[in-house]
Amino acid sequence: MKLKDAIDVGQECGLETPAECVNNIILHAMNLFPYDDINIETKELVEEAEKEGVKFCVQCGGAMIKDDGCYMCRNFGKLEGGQKDELPVR
Ligand SMILES: [Zn+2]
Repeated sequence: MKLKDAIDVGQECGLETPAECVNNIILHAMNLFPYDDINIETKELVEEAEKEGVKFCVQCGGAMIKDDGCYMCRNFGKLEGGQKDELPVR
């Protein structure tokens, strides 16, 4: 998927940054693409986003919203018993 298309979808969902729009597509890829296309579509999107300066978490592969670590790992990776932070508020 092209980054521009991901941003168009994200803006329809009220998202503001390219990183948020990329995560929106990654998280919903199972519902957006035929199974055999998921890897191709998300790989294209991640590569384009990286060229535009979006950073990705090395642990979960999600786009980093801020520079203070991965909110998805911090907030959803609780099986390790980590401290739960509040979800980002817009
Ligand atoms: Zn992560």
